[in-house]
Amino acid sequence: MPSSYPGLCGDCAFARVIDSGRSTFHLCERALTDPRFRKYPILPVWSCPGYQRQGPPGAPPGGGADDKLSG
Ligand code: SF4
Repeated sequence: MPSSYPGLCGDCAFARVIDSGRSTFHLCERALTDPRFRKYPILPVWSCPGYQRQGPPGAPPGGGADDKLSG
């Protein structure tokens, strides 16, 4: 059984798993541009306003709805 269940970070599109060899960390990529988020969240994360479920491989974070041009 894993000792550090990541909670929401486990399948968030903005989480990046960092394996240092001795430990594994979840880096929050939202923290790189938004100070409301910790770069290394305290796990497990049960509630997060930035959570975005991972889409299919190759899909942009958030499903790309914000990236679409209109008009
Ligand atoms: S946005 Fe929230 S759920 Fe997603 S990686 Fe960052 S802290 Fe984890």
